[in-house]
Amino acid sequence: MRIYNVAIDGPAGAGKSTIAKKAAAALRFVYIDTGAMYRAMAIYFLDHGIDKDDEKKISEACKDIDIEIKYDAGNVQRVFLERVDVTDRLRTQEVGDMASAVSVYKDVRKNLVALQRRLAESQNVIMDGRDIASVVLPNAEVKIYLTAGAKIRAQRRYDELVAKGIECSFDAVLHEIEERDWRDMHRENSPLVRVPEATLIDSSDMTIDEVAQKVIDLVKEEMAKEV
Ligand code: C5P
Repeated sequence: MRIYNVAIDGPAGAGKSTIAKKAAAALRFVYIDTGAMYRAMAIYFLDHGIDKDDEKKISEACKDIDIEIKYDAGNVQRVFLERVDVTDRLRTQEVGDMASAVSVYKDVRKNLVALQRRLAESQNVIMDGRDIASVVLPNAEVKIYLTAGAKIRAQRRYDELVAKGIECSFDAVLHEIEERDWRDMHRENSPLVRVPEATLIDSSDMTIDEVAQKVIDLVKEEMAKEV
């Protein structure tokens, strides 16, 4: 049986994980959230008091950090760091900032990229991140670059935070998104890029369902070629 790999890249807050999760469920593919792996690494550095600028210590620590991905009964990805389930700690601002800061280092990326490739080898996956089409799965059958205007992405994130009862200012959220975009796009190792063959989807004026359907259609189109 043929294995299909779908790569979705794009900036923070473009809706990658929401869309990838929906499309994966509809297609019965496994959803792999690579950002969660960088976030788990970030938790390790935060818990061990390792500074984000201390590349030497970070590289050294990377040799031993054990990260595993498992799926629960509801098919939700769980991330284990040193055999402890850290999934519920991944989505804080502090962890996101640390993940963005340390993902610039080559040693942080090395083992994670190997793990991501292993996961995609034997099953149909939709994997989202920043370097999936460019580095992790350059032979992916479907490549998508999902984006939206910075103000729209900031508004979505702001609404999410407010809904969770977290107090914040829109300007601070926008500033954080712009800073993260800049760092992700300009780093030396595996920057966020749109590979020329990727289908561009700008979700600024689209609903979640419309974007998910577009992804599902692209994958089905690709699968139909094989029949
Ligand atoms: O997508 P998410 O916000 O969870 O990712 C957190 C950070 O991890 C990103 O800002 C990015 O710097 C980094 N990342 C990465 N490569 C990936 C996925 C995430 O560098 N494939």
